[in-house]
Amino acid sequence: MHFGIRCTRCDATTTERHRSRCAACGGTLGFTYERPRCWPAGASRMWDHAELLPIPPDVEPVTLGEGGTPLVAAAGMRGARVFWKNEGANPTGSQKDRAISVAMTHARSIGAARIAVASTGSVGLACAAYSAKARLPCLILMPRGTPAERLTPMLAFGATVVAVDATFEAIETLLRSLDDSWFQASTIAALSPYQAEGPKTIAYEIVAQLDAAPDWMVVPVGGGGTLAGIWRGFEDLHRLGRIQRLPRMVGVQTRTFNALELAMARGLRTMDELASIAADERLETIARNLKHGVPPDATGALRALRDSGGCAISVDEAAIRAWHSRLAAEEGILAEPSSAAAPAGIDTLLARGVIAPGERVVALITGSGLREPSALPRGEPIAMPGSLDAADLDRLVPRRGPPTSNRETS
Ligand SMILES: [Zn+2]
Repeated sequence: MHFGIRCTRCDATTTERHRSRCAACGGTLGFTYERPRCWPAGASRMWDHAELLPIPPDVEPVTLGEGGTPLVAAAGMRGARVFWKNEGANPTGSQKDRAISVAMTHARSIGAARIAVASTGSVGLACAAYSAKARLPCLILMPRGTPAERLTPMLAFGATVVAVDATFEAIETLLRSLDDSWFQASTIAALSPYQAEGPKTIAYEIVAQLDAAPDWMVVPVGGGGTLAGIWRGFEDLHRLGRIQRLPRMVGVQTRTFNALELAMARGLRTMDELASIAADERLETIARNLKHGVPPDATGALRALRDSGGCAISVDEAAIRAWHSRLAAEEGILAEPSSAAAPAGIDTLLARGVIAPGERVVALITGSGLREPSALPRGEPIAMPGSLDAADLDRLVPRRGPPTSNRETS
């Protein structure tokens, strides 16, 4: 096999693929890989990187064509060379498709009989779609009151969606009581290590698309697993000789849910230390995917920030709203509000002089705004009488001036 399974705490190795934790110490499992025979070039798909994923070569992937997402040069960001890695182009519109494609492939290969997950968002939607593709029954638990726009697509995929009159915490406890016939499709590395390898392929694709690592990799942080996974992807490429230098990682959070920023400032590392600074999850934010008192994969995310010489910053609601609009109106990218934290964060770091003009910056656009229409910037059409004529329309839409190009080229 092209990969080994190794405990990240005690270094014990195993070949038992059905385990999700170290049998010796209960630690989180990780993986080691041989150097791949070749590096896919250009906008490769996720499974083009199968040699760096923890799935045996004779296992057929459960795939909907995830990955291979566009890397698009930004039109204008204070003269910086910013690129959008648009994960909204994935099959269910978010970066979680990578993790869940790996999880579902793993689940089916170890003989899982059914899938269970607690999620009102991207993970639930991805699980519903990939379970349908894998022909595995899927149970999605969520608190009562979850908006219909999030539920309806899951139902369309044929998932059993249960709205429970309980908190998310109580639902998680219920999930832990299920027997082994259920595969729990969590995207927390400590609970489900195989899926955590999926986000690494974002780094592989960026390097193939830029033919180098960027100077900065900016990621909105919800659970922290995507940031941690992308960093491990860059580490793989560095260790295996594909790139000579590593990017600096930036985690962007909201002002309220900024545990990583506080942890970096105060030198906190463990989940116990982080618990003391957890924000109240009843507080609201438009960036709902970033709403974690403590990101469940905070330790991996903090390691990525520290080892890369990067930083964590937070941005306020107004900046997120403004960039949510600007991404659509100025960049042509309809993102979910959480994704707008990335350009808001870059803007802040450019203003502070942390990111220098001329440095190459990749911002992760985590998901498509098409899945969250109620969060889109409000607007009304202009009401006109049926007697309107060409002159009316002429007045409504200004003409573009002579072309001036500030478009960045790589
Ligand atoms: Zn161990």
